[in-house]
Amino acid sequence: MAISRASSLSSSKQLLHSLSSRLIRPLSTYPAVSSLGLAEKHEPGLVSDDVKGLFSSVPTGKLLRSFLTLKMVASEPVVDLGTWVMTSRLMKTALFREIVVGVTKATFFDHFVAGTNHEEAGEIVKMLWNDGLSGMLDYGLEHAYDNVSCDLNMEAFVKTIESTKSLPQSSVSAAVVKITAICPVDLLKRMSDLLRWEYKEKSFNLPWKMNTLPIFSDSSPLYHTLHEPEALNSQEEKDLELAHQRLNKIIQKCQEALVPLVIDAEETLIQPAIDYFTYSAAIVHSKEDSAMIYGTFQAYLKDTKERLVCAKRAADKMGLRMGVKLVRGAYLSTESQVAASLGYDSPIHSSIQHTHDCYNDCASFMLNEVATGPGSLVLATHNFESGKLAAAQARDLGIGKDRQKLQFAQLYGMAEAMTYGLKNAGFQVSKYLPFGPVEQIMPYLVRRAEENRGMLSTSSLDRQLMKLRRADSASFW
Ligand SMILES: Cc1cc2nc3c(=O)[nH]c(=O)nc-3n(C[C@H](O)[C@H](O)[C@H](O)COP(=O)(O)OP(=O)(O)OC[C@H]3O[C@@H](n4cnc5c(N)ncnc54)[C@H](O)[C@@H]3O)c2cc1C
Repeated sequence: MAISRASSLSSSKQLLHSLSSRLIRPLSTYPAVSSLGLAEKHEPGLVSDDVKGLFSSVPTGKLLRSFLTLKMVASEPVVDLGTWVMTSRLMKTALFREIVVGVTKATFFDHFVAGTNHEEAGEIVKMLWNDGLSGMLDYGLEHAYDNVSCDLNMEAFVKTIESTKSLPQSSVSAAVVKITAICPVDLLKRMSDLLRWEYKEKSFNLPWKMNTLPIFSDSSPLYHTLHEPEALNSQEEKDLELAHQRLNKIIQKCQEALVPLVIDAEETLIQPAIDYFTYSAAIVHSKEDSAMIYGTFQAYLKDTKERLVCAKRAADKMGLRMGVKLVRGAYLSTESQVAASLGYDSPIHSSIQHTHDCYNDCASFMLNEVATGPGSLVLATHNFESGKLAAAQARDLGIGKDRQKLQFAQLYGMAEAMTYGLKNAGFQVSKYLPFGPVEQIMPYLVRRAEENRGMLSTSSLDRQLMKLRRADSASFW
């Protein structure tokens, strides 16, 4: 036992060495980042302390469960089984559902979700804040199909925003909203059709349309709308008005609580309407400087760079401080399936390298923009290379710690090594904190499981670091 512990320690030292060159050294020795103070902080020896310290505040039992959960979601058969179970009809059976919810709560839920309610999420925010990180509160709600559900969802969002008042100031860097939770999804489809048609046929009139930024560019896919859609009927127009009112109420609450609002991106089928809500609200509320509204751009879409540039140029002309959250995109299979079913090419880049290039290109464009002019950027990614490139450019442009201009964000339970690496390099970093009752969060967990399949660079690094922390606490692994 003693020998195995000794050899475990010595092999862990080797692992530490190789990991510190994979994780911390790339950030600390990267010429552009070192002058942020990282190199000075991490003289030889201190680098390894930092790696060991990554999970030092996490209780051993929780660390072990996290390790096992990440290991489980790395396994293709487990992900296949898990997604099948969570989406299967058997979930309608009470006993089966109870068992699945129980197992999910003890594994995936506790790892990827910040709690079942505001109080639990608030505790996580405080913990992160003590660690030098902020939280983006994301009450987990998915698609709503009628006004009653939309009203209930709006109240839940409002409660979330109000709950931030009892937390340390600035510890919540944003409240997150999905437009599909506050506007009936069928209406979003109808509005998106009409917006697409208006883009195709310039003479087409949309009486309900308010001032907005460009939603499409020449390369945007318009294949979802092949025929002229009917105008919104009076009920749909009333529903649209109600949706505007819900979003306005959420924004007003954000302004009162001094918390920016982040609006998630979803499928291209409905994204035009989501962008329309985002931009029209940003224009209406642009006079009050207290709340910043962020829209989301998905770099996996071929038209994203062009759309981003068009929207940013238009915002500049209006004097609007545009907030952009940049992600790669999470609806890969749905997008490809929908396009294929209509006989069109996927709107997603044909290779993952093109997506990476697009992400880095959009990030670089926005960093230059916010460095010299108005606007704010959230780089939401777990991709180490993208983080490293952006960190280097931000340092060169002198926008290191300015939270108004730049923040990095990772999902709770993912890419911990990158989160702490960026924080240690002097950047503002937030964790996206989904929370809510277990059954409500299931669709989110399915997406996270899908995402962890195959591409496991960041979570496997987290697993190795967790293992290391356990080994270095002179125990078994
Ligand atoms: C804070 C935060 C907020 C988010 N908000 C949203 C949101 O509002 N809307 C949304 O859609 N997503 C959102 N996501 C999820 C995000 O879009 C990604 O799915 C996830 O972060 C993985 O991308 P990555 O940048 O971390 O890069 P990586 O870890 O490098 O992941 C790359 C992933 O990109 C995918 N991919 C993209 N393009 C291709 C391609 N052409 N071929 C093959 N695979 C491809 C693959 O699934 C692969 O797993 C968010 C993520 C974070 C961290």
